[in-house]
This record gives sequence, C-alpha cells and structure tokens, in this order.
Amino acid sequence: MTQLSSVRTNTTPQWSDEEWRLRVQLAEFYHLIDYLGWTEMIFNHISARVPGPDHHYLINPFGLFYDEVTPDNLLKIDLAGNLVEPSPYPANPAGFALHSAIHGARADAHCIVHTHTTPISAIALKQDGFGHDDFYGAQLFGRVGYHTFEGITLFAEEKERMLASLGDRNVLVLRNHGIAVCEQDIPRTFMLLWTVQRAAEIQTAAGAIPGANVVLTDDIRSKCSDLADHLVEDAAFATKLFDAIVRKMRRTRGDLWPGDDGVRRKG
Ligand SMILES: [Zn+2]
Repeated sequence: MTQLSSVRTNTTPQWSDEEWRLRVQLAEFYHLIDYLGWTEMIFNHISARVPGPDHHYLINPFGLFYDEVTPDNLLKIDLAGNLVEPSPYPANPAGFALHSAIHGARADAHCIVHTHTTPISAIALKQDGFGHDDFYGAQLFGRVGYHTFEGITLFAEEKERMLASLGDRNVLVLRNHGIAVCEQDIPRTFMLLWTVQRAAEIQTAAGAIPGANVVLTDDIRSKCSDLADHLVEDAAFATKLFDAIVRKMRRTRGDLWPGDDGVRRKG
C-alpha cells in the first residue's frame, strides 16, 4: 500500500487552481463523513465532477478509510470509472456504477454522496420510507425518490429504472440498502445529506416512542419543502454550513492530512 501523503512530487499532475480547490473541498467532505460517524468502513463513495468540458470525476481510492483521503490521492476517472490520470491506486468501476449512472444522466448533479448510516438504512427498510412531519422530514416532502432493491451491484439493465426512480429529484432512497443524494456542488450536497440524516435520526427515535405523531398538512409540508429548496438556490447558505463544520472539525482534529494548511489554495 502506498503511504498516505499529500506531499506533491515531480510526478504529481499539474492540476488547475480550480481543480485543487475542488480536491481539497472533496477531501474535507470525506473527512466530515468520518468526523460525523456516517462512514461504512471503507465502503461507499462521494464523487465530484471536475470543472471543464471533459466528463471527469474525482473519487476516493477503494480500500482507504474516509479519514485517509487526501486532495492528492483522489482518483480522476471518466464516466465509465476508468482512470484518466495515473495513480498508485486502481480504479473501481463497479463501485462507481451508481454515481456514473446519475452523473451521466443529470448534468446538474456535480456531487453525489452515497451512505448506509443506521437511521437512513432503517428508514430505507420501511415500506413507507421517510415521514414528513418532523422539522427535517417536512423539508423533504416531494423531494425523495424510491428505488426497489435489485441486488448489491448496479447492473446495466437496472440503471434506467434507477434513474426513473430518481427523476429530477435530489434524494434517492435505495430500498433495503441506503441513500444517494446529489446536488450541484459539495456544500449543497452536504447540507441535503445532513437534512436527510437528521430526518432519519428523528424518525427512528420517534418510532420507538409509543403514541401517535402530530401530523402536518400537505400545505405546511410543501411550504417547508419549498423554502428548503429556495434556501439552497443561493450557494452562500450551504457554504456557510459546510465551512463552519469543516472549521470545527479542524479545531478538533488538527491537520486532516500531511501538509494540510486549512486553505483551499494550490499546494
Ligand atoms: Zn451502498
């Protein structure tokens, strides 16, 4: 296994400042998932599209824990999941299949995250899926698609059905499995995933308490959902949340990787 390092060498590709910032921000997202306890060992991925005309994506090398991801060791791959830049780590096209399907069909989905947290997977197991009566669940009203489980690997013939289940939404419950969340950038994806995670935590806790929930009307749910949608139109809101939790993580953990200076400038 190659040593985990973000020290740049003569063979390091000359990434643009824009790509470097994206690499740092994506590495921060991986560390955040670990910091918040939302990881599933070495499994699952977060992917982000590299700016520019090429359909290239950054993704974690399979086999690393999320807190071992650095801006430098992120793989750059094409839509088929093949490496487009040399890396000591192999590509994992099968692991990218879910992301590939969504990136390929949704030009607005620049970042996709897939998780299996316990509360989300518990909701994904329930026939009715997410409720919309708690503060976060209400924000998801009308914004969640549901895809029937067809097996552990996403096979080619399942892709179209999965995309139909997602439609133009940004949250897809993978029944009996977990969740996929996509948005136009990393902070928005994080904010939406956090909303989904909070809804799942509250609903699984409420489900354990006897007695009926207070039910909201569809009118109130729609108002919550529309407002939540409106808030992310301006990137500043999600960026404030993402940057704040990343600052807190750095205060708690110190440097996230060798050479981490907490600044998204080119190394
Ligand atoms: Zn999964």
